[in-house]
Amino acid sequence: MVNNGFKTTIHDSLFIIQIYMDCIFCKIGKKEVSSDILYEDDGVMVFKDAQPSAPVHYLIIPKEHIQSIAHLEGNHRDVLAKIIYKAKESAEKLNLKGYKLVFNVGREGGQVIDHLHLHLLGGWAKEEDVGAMPGPGLDK
Ligand code: AMP
Ligand code: ZN
Repeated sequence: MVNNGFKTTIHDSLFIIQIYMDCIFCKIGKKEVSSDILYEDDGVMVFKDAQPSAPVHYLIIPKEHIQSIAHLEGNHRDVLAKIIYKAKESAEKLNLKGYKLVFNVGREGGQVIDHLHLHLLGGWAKEEDVGAMPGPGLDK
């Protein structure tokens, strides 16, 4: 019984470590995979989406591996606030007058990469183009 409990704990830990090692956005955060970086500090990174769904499309990620909004815990409040504030600052840096901020949550919500990320979308020339753009993840 105790052994089983121990084995489960080790197995779970190894499984979680494997997820971190395989996660493409963790690798981008550690610069093991290259990206077009707009901003970086110890906690967050802002980089260009490789397959943009808008004329201007950036992703804001925490460097810490959090799977999605659905996996947030109480101690993640600060990092979440930082991500949203960094989206606002990035939009200003990119001279976006208006923009969309999107979190896809879970497969049914269009999430493909299981590392929390906020989509910053903008740069549409005309007002009517905004409605014509599908949300990120929904057109795949
Ligand atoms: P989601 O559907 O919300 O999981 O969005 C994931 C986003 O990550 C998509 O818009 C992809 O185009 C983008 N993406 C996937 N791999 C990379 C990468 N290596 N560099 C930059 N963006 C990526
Ligand atoms: Zn990750």
